[in-house]
Amino acid sequence: QPSLPDGARELPATGSAAAARAPPRFPHPGNGATHAAVASTSASAGEGVRGLAVDLRDVRFGYTPEREVLRGVTLSVAPGQSCAIVGSSGSGKSTLLRLLVRLYDVQGGAVLLDGIDIREFRQTSLRSAIAVVPQDTVLFADTIMRNLAYGRPTATRAEILKAAEMAQLGPAVARMKDGYETVVGERGLKLSGGEKQRVAIARAFLRNPRLLICDEATSALDTATERGIMGSLEELAQGRTSVFVAHRLSTVQRCDKIVVLSDGVMAEVGTHSELMAAGRVYYDMWQAQAAAEEQQKWCCPQELTT
Ligand code: ATP
Repeated sequence: QPSLPDGARELPATGSAAAARAPPRFPHPGNGATHAAVASTSASAGEGVRGLAVDLRDVRFGYTPEREVLRGVTLSVAPGQSCAIVGSSGSGKSTLLRLLVRLYDVQGGAVLLDGIDIREFRQTSLRSAIAVVPQDTVLFADTIMRNLAYGRPTATRAEILKAAEMAQLGPAVARMKDGYETVVGERGLKLSGGEKQRVAIARAFLRNPRLLICDEATSALDTATERGIMGSLEELAQGRTSVFVAHRLSTVQRCDKIVVLSDGVMAEVGTHSELMAAGRVYYDMWQAQAAAEEQQKWCCPQELTT
């Protein structure tokens, strides 16, 4: 990992407390009832947090000099908006997320947060304003409680329990012999993919970020688990700016903005209905995925009952 020069500016961790809370806009896979139930229990998520304004200006980047992976991407996400990045494997989706947390620096153009070049901010400042829910959550060989506290080591036990509850981790922990003191990870209990994602969501709740970045897991979760996870993410995203990579298009329909990347360039941008009406790349992806899901139902009958 290259070590990047630190900036000198501070990025306010929560922004203006007076800012209005944005309505819940995170994507949800079409289960209105679940969504309503989740939204109604979420009075405190993201309250008083001002989402970051995110701008990419003609961004160019390659891991090696021979091959540019992002080739002139320009994109704006307003404070409190949700933006999904979709596109085929290798189109540059995860790379774009890596630039947003400054794991790498752009080689051309700029990434701006609240209108200021990301390179001007202190790394510690970026880490307090941005939280990432990664594709694959790393668990330490330690208790669930300490694994959650990793989100914010100064958090109190009550705050950790609240975050776990917001991430709907409670029922899974209740089934474990030692509850929150159960040792997980390499030398302990193995958590399921969905449970691990809930740990990542709880950690992100603890961080109370202005920008939420989520790289959707590629491994298939069953429909009910996926819906539940999306509900928790939707709650977490309230009032914050969110940018996430989606592999399943069913999860992006309610986003304010959907960006379709194709071989490192932005092929299309718009809302779900705009892109469907345009009948181009997104429309084709949607049709192909719907056909694949339909076929899947005949291969895996248990899917029909979930
Ligand atoms: P997927 O949907 O499969 O996760 P993606 O759209 O997220 O794909 P990226 O992971 O951003 O795509 O990768 C874009 C291109 O950059 C790919 O060709 C990939 O092989 C290459 N790439 C990704 N990470 C690295 C790396 N660390 N070093 C070199 N090349 C990389």
